[in-house]
Amino acid sequence: GRMVDPRGDDEERQVEAALRPRRLADFPGQQRVREQLGLVLEAARRRGSPPDHVLLSGPPGLGKTTLAMIIAGELEQPIRITSGPAIQHAGDLAAVLSSMVEGEVLFLDEIHRMSRPAEEMLYLAMEDFRVDVIVGKGPGATAIPLELPPFTVVGATTRAGLLPAPLRDRFGFTGHLDFYATDDLVTILTRNADLLGIEAHEDGIRQIASRSRGTPRIANRLLRRVRDWAQVHGRGVVDDPAARAALELFDVDALGLDRLDRAVLEALCNRFGGGPVGLSTLAVAVGEEPDTVETVAEPYLVREGFMIRTPRGRAASVSAWEHLGLTPPADAVG
Ligand code: ADP
Repeated sequence: GRMVDPRGDDEERQVEAALRPRRLADFPGQQRVREQLGLVLEAARRRGSPPDHVLLSGPPGLGKTTLAMIIAGELEQPIRITSGPAIQHAGDLAAVLSSMVEGEVLFLDEIHRMSRPAEEMLYLAMEDFRVDVIVGKGPGATAIPLELPPFTVVGATTRAGLLPAPLRDRFGFTGHLDFYATDDLVTILTRNADLLGIEAHEDGIRQIASRSRGTPRIANRLLRRVRDWAQVHGRGVVDDPAARAALELFDVDALGLDRLDRAVLEALCNRFGGGPVGLSTLAVAVGEEPDTVETVAEPYLVREGFMIRTPRGRAASVSAWEHLGLTPPADAVG
C-alpha cells in the first residue's frame, strides 16, 4: 500500500488500537469539535439520559473511530461497532438494533454506504426507538413494532453530502473533522513515540509531522517507518536526518506528496495542459481507479492548493506547476 494512503487496513488498525486516546481531554486537535462534543456529552451526563445521535464527517484517518470510542468512554457505556458496507440487508440491522441495551453506543462507520432499506429502518429507530420486524412473506407478511431502549448512534462518513437528508436530519449533532495542524501532529507523535518506547527528538518528530498530510493515521505510519530506518541504519533514534532519509526512501516528499500525487500533477500539467480534465480521464492517465484518485490523492492536493476542482474537471494551479519545476502557462489559476 501507499505510505500516504489515509485509509488503513485491518492489520494497521490493530497496530493503531493501542495508540488511541481514550478521553476527550487526551485528544489533540479538532478543538471546535472537541468543545462542542464535550458540551453535548456533559449535558447528557447531567440529565442522565443518552445524548443526541452524533454524526462525524471528514476524510479518513482523522479520528472518527477514535472519537466514537471516546464518546462511549466518556459516557461509560459499551460500544458496538459496525459499518455501512457490513449491513447488506435491513435484517442485519434489525438484528443489531433489537439487541441494543439502554445507553449503548452504536458506531456505524461509512454510514453513507448502507443500503436504502437499512437506512429507512435506521432513521425510524433513531427517531422513535422502534423497529418494525417483518414476520412472514408476501401478502400475509406483518410488521410487528418492537420498542427499543434509548441509545446513541454515532455515524461516521467521509462525505456528509452523500447522506440522504432524512437520515442526516436524525443526527442532533454533526462534527466536521478537518486536517490537523502540524503542531497537533507533533503532540500526537510525541505521545505515541513514548507509548511505543521510541527515542525521538523534536526535530525528527516535526519532520514527520510536516509530511503527514494533516492526518494522524499517516503520521503514525511514517513514525513506524522512520523508527525502522533508525534501527537499521542509525542508533535507533528518530531524529531529523533519520526522518529525511527514511521518507526519501519511501518517496514521501517535503510536502507529504508521494509518487501518485506527483503523477496526478504531472499528468494534469504535461498531458492535459493544466486541465480542466475529468476525474476518470485523469485516473486512466495515472493508472489508478477514479475512487483512489478522488479519495486518496485529491483531497490533499486540493487542500494544499495544487489542484482546483472546476465544474468542467480538475485543473492544476500555479503552485502545482511550480512544485514540479515547470513554468505555469499564462492562463493558469491560483
Ligand atoms: P478514522 O475513523 O477517521 O478513519 P481513526 O479514528 O481510525 O480515523 O484514527 C486513525 C489513527 O489515527 C488511529 O490510530 C488514531 O489513534 C489516530 N488518531 C486520530 N486522531 C487522533 C488524535 N486526535 N489524537 C491521537 N491519535 C489520533
